[in-house]
Amino acid sequence: MKFLSSVLLAAAAVTALPALAEEVVVYSARNEQLIKPLFDAYTKQTGVTVKFITDKEGPLMERLKAEGSNTPADVLLTVDAGNLWHAANLHLLQPIKSTVLQANIPEHLRDPQNQWFGLSVRARTMFYNANRVKPAQLSSYEDLAGPQWKGKLCLRTSKKVYNQSLVAMLIEEHGVAKAEQIVKGWVANLATEVFPDDTKLLEAIGAGQCEVGIANTYYYGRLMDKKVLPVNLFWANQKDKGVHVNVSGAGVTKHAKNPAGAQKLLEWLSSSQAQNLFTDLDFEYPANPAIKPFEKLQAWGSFKQNLINVSKAGQLQVEAVKLMDRAGYK
Ligand code: FE
Repeated sequence: MKFLSSVLLAAAAVTALPALAEEVVVYSARNEQLIKPLFDAYTKQTGVTVKFITDKEGPLMERLKAEGSNTPADVLLTVDAGNLWHAANLHLLQPIKSTVLQANIPEHLRDPQNQWFGLSVRARTMFYNANRVKPAQLSSYEDLAGPQWKGKLCLRTSKKVYNQSLVAMLIEEHGVAKAEQIVKGWVANLATEVFPDDTKLLEAIGAGQCEVGIANTYYYGRLMDKKVLPVNLFWANQKDKGVHVNVSGAGVTKHAKNPAGAQKLLEWLSSSQAQNLFTDLDFEYPANPAIKPFEKLQAWGSFKQNLINVSKAGQLQVEAVKLMDRAGYK
């Protein structure tokens, strides 16, 4: 009896507590400066608190794996479809059924099993030295393997996942043998050693060290905001399959304590308000095709995206790495 009354007292004490504000916990491989404004806007609109930690995707996934069902994380947010694919492959995410996300995010930018959704689009296209190259000379990634570009091409290292995803797309489109020929052609055309990052590559094009190269458009946007360089953007493969795109995106963790709240946050991130913030904050393109990109991006013109599902970047990554190694792409 004494036990029962203390249980009842404890229960009464719990119900007497003020209701706790709802909270969603996010593990983010994106920088605080890029995500905090989004989460602040969400909290302002819904009253839901978003707690987050930021780290590189590798350590975050390790942490999720180690924490298992004890994880406080409801959402994993990261860049590159290859990373999202790995998270799903490690069983760190759960499929979610959301008519909102299915309506807002095109099919090629989300996991066919609905374990993750692209939230912003990152286009990896061609850039050229405006004093040396006419846009009419340019056409496609494949064309950059031709002898006309001998000693004129700049590439970033094959160690970067962005190039692994690009080569994965070539494998999906052409098969391994032809993709390998293309990559070998690129290597034969290199003007100089591969670059550690896209910004240095764009600067080299500006300096005339090379005439053409491949980079993500947001690096170009950031660089051209600071410097005047004779570097122009060219939308690759517009007469065939379209520009290679990748995503930043997110999924609900397998052991989320608040899966419904996590799903609502993802749905909001795909909505117009958040999509506008995404593009304004980092020169990325909205994943939701109903949203217009930020004005500076509109100046670069519109482009056709390659519609291969971005999950191929993960599925074919090992094959792509091996291929680049065989082709001598450092
Ligand atoms: Fe990047």
